[in-house]
Amino acid sequence: MKAILIVLLAAALAVGFTQPARISGLLVTSYGAPGADTITREGYTLLFYNLHPGFDTSTRRRLIDAFFQVYPIEVRRFNAKAARKVIFTIDPNYDGVAETSGNRVRISPLWLKAHPEDIDVVTHEAMHIVQNYTHPVPGWLTEGIADYARYTYGINNHNGNWWLPDFSAGQHYTNAYRVTARFFVWLEKNQHSGIIDSLDKAARAGEYTPQIWTKLTGKTVDGLWQDYSAHPQLELTYR
Ligand SMILES: [Zn+2]
Repeated sequence: MKAILIVLLAAALAVGFTQPARISGLLVTSYGAPGADTITREGYTLLFYNLHPGFDTSTRRRLIDAFFQVYPIEVRRFNAKAARKVIFTIDPNYDGVAETSGNRVRISPLWLKAHPEDIDVVTHEAMHIVQNYTHPVPGWLTEGIADYARYTYGINNHNGNWWLPDFSAGQHYTNAYRVTARFFVWLEKNQHSGIIDSLDKAARAGEYTPQIWTKLTGKTVDGLWQDYSAHPQLELTYR
């Protein structure tokens, strides 16, 4: 990496790009790819860094389109103050699927090569940007809400072969992700419409406690889970 840095620095100086910003831009793209693409649509800006030269251009376009289609909807519903500028990095050295920190999303090109229809990883990660929880919040709640958003606002879940698993004994709301998301969809459809909005807001404000369930619904989360376990039927539709 150091050798690359020196070569790039020399190249940058040779062609007269001496501003630090330009040099750091070159460092980010030491694979020879162009720097970040900056795309702005309707008040939202996406900086898209591709560190994987072979990354499929159609997948790239679909990720960008998904972001601009879904993120503003999530912002409007949950957190109008969420970031207007977001950074995506396609990172071949990252061995997970996708992850978000602040307004930065890292996505694995290897995952998308193997699962090119899994475009709604964007919908899940974008919801994490909207959540912007800076106080301690149970992981199952954070991930359950992100998958609730993916179910509700996803644009390619059907083709991506992504669904909420049927209820089965042995599941628990702390399982997180899709198991928790199905419970949340059930709550929204069974007399607790708006509960996800309230939980999300409380989590962002640092006001989430286990007692909030009783305050919002008159029942504990365990009591609600029991209700769900007794009648888990749910009509689900996927886009
Ligand atoms: Zn997540």
